[in-house]
Amino acid sequence: MSTATTTTARDTQVFDLIAKEQHRQESGIELIASENFVSRQVMEAAGSVLTNKYAEGLPGKRYYGGCEVVDQIEQLAIDRIKELFGASWANVQPHSGAQANTAVFLACLQPGDTILGFDLSHGGHLTHGSPVNISGKYFRPTFYGVEKETGVINYDIVEETALRERPKVLICGASAYSRDWDYVRLRAIADQIGALLLADISHPAGLIAKGLLNDPLEHCHIVTTTTHKTLRGPRGGLIMMRNDFENPFGIKTPKGDIRLMSSLLDSGVFPGTQGGPLEHVIAAKAVAFGEALSEDFYDYAVQVKANAQAMAKAFVDKGYQIISGGTDNHLMLIDLRSKGLTGKLAENTLIKADITINKNMVPFDDKSPMVTSGMRVGTAAMTSRGMKESDMEQIVGYIDDVLMNHDNDAKIQTVREEINSWMKAFPLYA
Ligand SMILES: *Cc1c(COP(=O)(O)O)cnc(C)c1O
Repeated sequence: MSTATTTTARDTQVFDLIAKEQHRQESGIELIASENFVSRQVMEAAGSVLTNKYAEGLPGKRYYGGCEVVDQIEQLAIDRIKELFGASWANVQPHSGAQANTAVFLACLQPGDTILGFDLSHGGHLTHGSPVNISGKYFRPTFYGVEKETGVINYDIVEETALRERPKVLICGASAYSRDWDYVRLRAIADQIGALLLADISHPAGLIAKGLLNDPLEHCHIVTTTTHKTLRGPRGGLIMMRNDFENPFGIKTPKGDIRLMSSLLDSGVFPGTQGGPLEHVIAAKAVAFGEALSEDFYDYAVQVKANAQAMAKAFVDKGYQIISGGTDNHLMLIDLRSKGLTGKLAENTLIKADITINKNMVPFDDKSPMVTSGMRVGTAAMTSRGMKESDMEQIVGYIDDVLMNHDNDAKIQTVREEINSWMKAFPLYA
């Protein structure tokens, strides 16, 4: 076996495929709301020698030697994310958003305890109580949703459901909800029943970081997020808290209850649900958080929102129906039934023109999850490529062209060629 320093045979099989994937990313229109394009330095950190290091534990408290350098890197990531969100505590080790949520549940719940989250078929995430996820298998999941007429959450119904089901953890946050959240009201509901309020801000984290949406940290006991969606970091997750609160476990602690909760959460991550942290990814998180602290990132976040507004308007102008009528964040959910299309047909047709979207259930959908009546689109990735409002109109024009000609392959090929040459104006890693 050759060592790293004597390797001569490059693995062309894998690297040729990576080159192909880069070409795909460069030449198409990316509208998957959970995706984004990281900077070169974020990728550089993620591909660094830090992948060689074991560092179970936390900075200054490791189970392995040789952690002096990774301690400084992880501490930088922690300090930067605390500054970015005004948090007083953070754990940056969760390998993903799902891992962050599972660690919270392990820290706060016993098997069989009740959780209350946003209905998965209305845009909620599978880690908020899906029967195929640990959150739905080990705990008792209950749900609130949007109103059929408005497509918006009715907080009176959230309250009613909370009082009836009495969850130990009330979860807010979603994967396909285009409106902002009323954290003040949610905290009041949680306080009535002594529940912990968890905000999972995986999708809009980058907009929240720059003050462009309501601030969940002020009102929610615990906040989780992914780092790779609007936050534009490497794939990963994290957990944060800001304010102290009375712990619901009846444990008296002289140190303040946030200290107790933070140690429960730290143990929920490691050794509760993970082993060694991915220090190369944590370094990439630190780089991304540094970028997110900059003025440039503020401009990007403002543009993400402006682009979503422009895209929503362009869809409405072409007669498409957006759930809730518009968007406050970076994404929107489009009900395709008024156009006589399914989500599956839209996804499969648009990909032929190198436009990537995902089919998505709409609230009260009459079709199966494999077919669906909707599609979800977001503007984070194309904003990172440098696109502005007028480009959103052009994208919607392409989408409409393709969907209205879904059985005309020649027409779709023409659109595809136009898109491939247009995308050259938005270089990815120039
Ligand atoms: C994307 C997402 C997650 C999961 O993130 P992974 O990194 O894919 O595990 C969790 N919660 C919400 C609301 C999400 O949108």
